[in-house]
Amino acid sequence: MIWYPYAQMQTLAPPIQIRSARGVHLYTEDGRDLIDSVSSWWSVIHGYNNSEINDAIKSQLDKFAHVMLGGLTHEPVQQLSDKLAAWLPGDLNYCFFSDSGSVAVEVALKMALQFNTNRGSDRSLILALEHAYHGDTFKAMEVGDDEDYYFAFGSSNEKKRGVVHIPTTIPALEQAFAAYGDRLSCFIAEPLLQGAGGMRMYDISFLERARQLCDAHDVLLIFDEVATGFGRTGNRFVADLVLPDILVLGKALTGGYIGHAVTVANQRVWEGFLSDDPTHALMHGPTFMGNALACTAALKSIELFEKGNYIEKIRRIEAVTRREMQGFPSDKIREIRIMGGCVCVEVTDARYLDGFREFAMEHGVFSRPFLQYMYAMVPYVIEEWELVQILDVMKAWFAVSR
Ligand SMILES: *Cc1c(COP(=O)(O)O)cnc(C)c1O
Repeated sequence: MIWYPYAQMQTLAPPIQIRSARGVHLYTEDGRDLIDSVSSWWSVIHGYNNSEINDAIKSQLDKFAHVMLGGLTHEPVQQLSDKLAAWLPGDLNYCFFSDSGSVAVEVALKMALQFNTNRGSDRSLILALEHAYHGDTFKAMEVGDDEDYYFAFGSSNEKKRGVVHIPTTIPALEQAFAAYGDRLSCFIAEPLLQGAGGMRMYDISFLERARQLCDAHDVLLIFDEVATGFGRTGNRFVADLVLPDILVLGKALTGGYIGHAVTVANQRVWEGFLSDDPTHALMHGPTFMGNALACTAALKSIELFEKGNYIEKIRRIEAVTRREMQGFPSDKIREIRIMGGCVCVEVTDARYLDGFREFAMEHGVFSRPFLQYMYAMVPYVIEEWELVQILDVMKAWFAVSR
């Protein structure tokens, strides 16, 4: 039996059986051709079955698939860390690899907390955002602000003593630093776009102010760009606009091919772990960190991103989306939000989306709305007609009266 994610297994509708996939198309076992509006949880930025990534993985496979990084190293992981150090802004140069975004967030938080204990400081409080999502492991859930956590694991006050959550407003930010600034180890945020918390978008001025306050109060700034990295907001990384001390990447890192993630620290954080004292080392080591196939896929994915002028592609996706959604009215819609390669239609009542998944499928689109959010985060290689078809299906849903 497969235990599927985020689902009550007693009532789960049978998942759609996929036989093959190419570009932005999913081909089902029962003969349907679906345009994928989700990019397999926002990761498949080059589409499915990309021949260049396929070939790169195959040639690495003939050498070896995996060796551990405990006492061993290899060219793909070295090349990827060199590439990231050169490609990422500022002095974000020190790459700790892991197998998933959640684990990479855990590593970032461990870095921030131990950075402080290593220097004899007892700062242990973490500042985070309301509606944040940072993954499903325990500390990631704690810094997150996801109601599922409350359902299954108890009340916020009991379990979240070490985390302060604030909305994305500058006054709230300033108040939090005034109240807790000398006790904070770090501020962790999904920059500009909060994904799983409801595709919430906010202004860069908030992050600029956060950078200033972090500097003034000696607090580390962590950007969780597991979702926003690699162009999703229309910026290569939001870190290009405001520089964090620790950057977390995942999802699209390997072009959605193989689960892998990386926590990238700057010079200062790195140096906070250099010591004659062995207990100052970072004690973490996922079995599959730096997996050679994953690193090879990531290197090829970044190469495609660079040589394919992806920022231009994403700009076009945003422009077409704005054009198509322009003035689209419905009294069931609370707000339409668009940023880069993300569009979200928030309805006033989650029940207005009941049946949309099936409706979209009948019209050749795979969609996975959640709560009151209908959204599209498409592969960047999408053609205009394919994108328009997705947006037409979203609009058609509201045109049909029900
Ligand atoms: C998906 C996501 C994660 C968790 O990544 P996994 O690979 O699913 O563990 C963490 N942070 C953000 C912002 C995400 O969108």
